[in-house]
Amino acid sequence: MSLNLLNLDAAQLVSFFADIGEKPFRAKQLLRWMHQFGEADFSKMSDLAKPLREKLAASAVIKAPQVVSDATAADGTRKWLIDVGNRNAVETVFIPETNRGTLCISSQAGCALDCKFCSTGKQGFNRNLSTAEIIGQLWIASRALARDAGGTPARGAAKALGATPKGERVISNVVMMGMGEPLANFDNVVTAMHLMLDDNGYGLSRRRVTLSTSGIVPAIDRLRDACPVALAVSLHAPNDALRDALVPINRKYPLAGLLAACRRYLDRAPRDFITFEYVMLEGVNDGAEHAQQLIDLVRDVPCKFNLIPFNPFPNSGFKRSSRDAIRRFAEILLAAGLVVTTRKTRGDDIDAACGQLAGKVEDRTRRTRRVVEIHSC
Ligand code: SAH
Ligand code: SF4
Repeated sequence: MSLNLLNLDAAQLVSFFADIGEKPFRAKQLLRWMHQFGEADFSKMSDLAKPLREKLAASAVIKAPQVVSDATAADGTRKWLIDVGNRNAVETVFIPETNRGTLCISSQAGCALDCKFCSTGKQGFNRNLSTAEIIGQLWIASRALARDAGGTPARGAAKALGATPKGERVISNVVMMGMGEPLANFDNVVTAMHLMLDDNGYGLSRRRVTLSTSGIVPAIDRLRDACPVALAVSLHAPNDALRDALVPINRKYPLAGLLAACRRYLDRAPRDFITFEYVMLEGVNDGAEHAQQLIDLVRDVPCKFNLIPFNPFPNSGFKRSSRDAIRRFAEILLAAGLVVTTRKTRGDDIDAACGQLAGKVEDRTRRTRRVVEIHSC
């Protein structure tokens, strides 16, 4: 089987070229063709000599996953369903805002961590996505958005990733907040993030790439060393008893250790705060007492809170907190000097809001093998 060059970051491409007797600068040329011009056809790479193009075509491919569907919501949110083989599909969502465009990327087909309010977690895990499948989501979205902006597929991709006529990027931010736990697919996610950050790739700053984790403590430390990007931690509860119940990975990595890892991360982080995500579940974690406990819990961690109104899915057993409850909760945190935002629900008419992403996963963790619809983000 041919090697898929979308799986390789700059350092890996340099070794690939060394193995075929070529100079390191070829890596830079190829990265630009693949990621800045969205080109998958070696024969069109005009600054590579013909014999090299033929050598590449004989031993390698540039292959992004296939798009199954592509839908745009009334508010401009756009969602792609992406085939990752063997009856599995994941979703990628683009969220346009006034001054930025955020792409939400998936890292796994399903998730093994079983958070109780997350339908991905409830419905199982199939496998880690490859680097090509992860970066392929950015590749696909960049090309599609560029085409819409009026560019040719090749030039347009560069336009999407570089400057628009107004000097803005179409995709200015990437969040690893789609399906799956990114730190449970560490190597492939880090390689894909190298490509997002590479000046010959997507050229995003570390501050504009955010990884969201449910709190795999040793992997947070590894990330600090391997690829420190902006970090979001899915807290969701202010004490271990409640977090054990909602986010089962807490039993292995309880809150004290998680918060210590957040403090260590800040030594190398591109931003001087951790974002804490907190899903608002009526009558479960949204009381004044929970807000007070949270204030004590995060006392030593520079942070911002992002309150996420729960997005329901069938048989979840949870309800979204009322607007008033969310406002009261936010006010208690704000009064203690914390920075708090409430996540807007976007794209819910195409099921693209957080907690509504629907992919397809053939669960391999349960006794009965089955295909299930999954929801995440
Ligand atoms: N696995 C990672 C990233 C993917 S989930 C993590 O857990 O952080 C992205 C965010 O959406 C997480 O904060 C997650 O807890 C939240 N989420 C999951 N299900 C949700 C739902 N039904 N409604 C609202 N937010 C949800
Ligand atoms: Fe996995 Fe994140 Fe869902 Fe938890 S919230 S089950 S870690 S995707």
